[in-house]
This record gives sequence, C-alpha cells and structure tokens, in this order.
Amino acid sequence: MKLRKAGIATVSVLALALTATACGDDKKEGGSGSEGGGKSIKIGIKFDQPGIGQKTPDGFAGFDVDVATFVAKELGYSEDQIEFVQTPSADRENALKNGDVEFIAASYSINDEREKLVDFAGPYLLAHQDLLVKADSDIAEGTDLNGKKLCSVAGSTSAQNVKKEIAPKAQLQERGTYSECLEGLAGGSIDALTTDDSILAGYAAQDQYKGKFKLAGLKLSNENYGIGVKEGNKDLKDKINKALEKMVADGAWEEAVKKNLGPAGYKNEPAPKIGVIVK
Ligand code: GLU
Repeated sequence: MKLRKAGIATVSVLALALTATACGDDKKEGGSGSEGGGKSIKIGIKFDQPGIGQKTPDGFAGFDVDVATFVAKELGYSEDQIEFVQTPSADRENALKNGDVEFIAASYSINDEREKLVDFAGPYLLAHQDLLVKADSDIAEGTDLNGKKLCSVAGSTSAQNVKKEIAPKAQLQERGTYSECLEGLAGGSIDALTTDDSILAGYAAQDQYKGKFKLAGLKLSNENYGIGVKEGNKDLKDKINKALEKMVADGAWEEAVKKNLGPAGYKNEPAPKIGVIVK
C-alpha cells in the first residue's frame, strides 16, 4: 500500500463539529430467523464505532449499518430479517471463510493481502488514516511518530501501516478494538490512537469526549472500504455491487453519509466508483 500525505486537490478537509445529534432511527435487533419464511441473513459489522457501526440501546446505527441494510434489502431481506454480528478487525477473514456471516460491512479496507483470502464488492467509501490525540497535544503534520506511544487494533491496516511505513519504531500497542485504545488515550497511557479518520471523527464527537480530543488532520493512507464476501462468491459480489451502484444513483448513499458522518463534522470524499481502488 502506498501511503500519502494530504494536500492533493481532490482531498477534502476533515473538521470536528462541536455538536453531534442523535439519529433516533436505529435499526432494531432482529434476525430471529422466524420472519419471512425463516429466511434471515447474518451481516458482520463493528459494534463500537460511532457513525460507522455501533450497537446502541435501541439497535444498531452507523454508515456501515445503513449500507448493509440497503444491500440486504436489494438481496431480498427486510430489516427484521437481518442479524448483525460483531466482526472485530482481526476476525473478518475467518468469519467469511467459516460462513459465520454472509457479508461484512465493517470499515473493511480492500487490500492485496486480504484479497488473497476474501473477495470484495465496492469500494463504497474512501477514508484516510489519521491520529486522534488529546486536545492540547502538539502532535501534528511533520511530528516524528517514532518513539511515540501509539495504539491501534490487531489485524487492521492502521497497525500494519504504522509498523511498515508510518513509524516502525513507535511503541505500538495493538488492541482488540478501537474503544480499548480510546480508554488509553483518555487515561494518558498513549499519545495517539491511529486509524481511519471516519472512525476517529465519531469518537471525537462523542458526548463524553467532546473538546477532549482532536484529529491531527493527516492523511496517512487511502482506505477503500469494501464489502467482504467469501472468496469465490462472484454471484453475491456482483449483486452487492449492483446494490451499491443503486444506492449512490438514487441518493441514499449521500443521505446515509450526511446522517451518520455529518454530525461529527466529517467531510467525506465523493462516492467511489465500483471497482476503482484509490491507491
Ligand atoms: N479500515 C481499516 C481496516 O480495515 C481500519 C479500520 C478497521 O480496523 O476496521 O483495517
């Protein structure tokens, strides 16, 4: 993977809003399998990434949840036939291989290594790796991150990028989920949490952290989010690509981005073209 810095004309700016609104239309828990003639579908998402994929007291919410729901509907499943399953970063390939889930929409970047193990529909979002730091931190563009205490998640491209290119000599802690890193950042045991800006913006905008953290504003990589399917399942991949194209064409994609990522002030890239990966 090529890592690149910000500053290119097409690159949009990420800003944090001071307010975040609750959406109030979370997808309900569902998928008992009894509806619709017993037909249900298991979909892998994240449970702890506000704005992207989050389990809430009322169900599930986030951009990935809305994309997954749209796709499932196009595949013939109603909302109450969907069973959302938590798929942490390191478990995604196995979950598909073992048939635990039919597809995964979980901030899942397409890359060559993963494409050897699973297939991807999409991409459906272009994000960039960034750093979440304390509001008074002096870490910024140009700071040498080697020697800093960074936290990311095992099995993520974010951790890989740190080790390979961004700061091979950083003290990298690899956790199971980003929310574990967030606790470390709040407690002062790490200098920065690093992953996609789309995820970090959601954390920064959470009520309990408002004003406490900021994004460094670096575009350290291109993260092309894809929908993972079992390797070789071309029929499903093609159907999901059709659904994603429809979602963009009819405006539902834009609406879902605004609804889920807008409250955190995330300035998204335009909808990617299916099959076109931005390296
Ligand atoms: N998009 C990156 C990845 O797929 C980081 C976010 C995540 O771990 O889900 O690894």
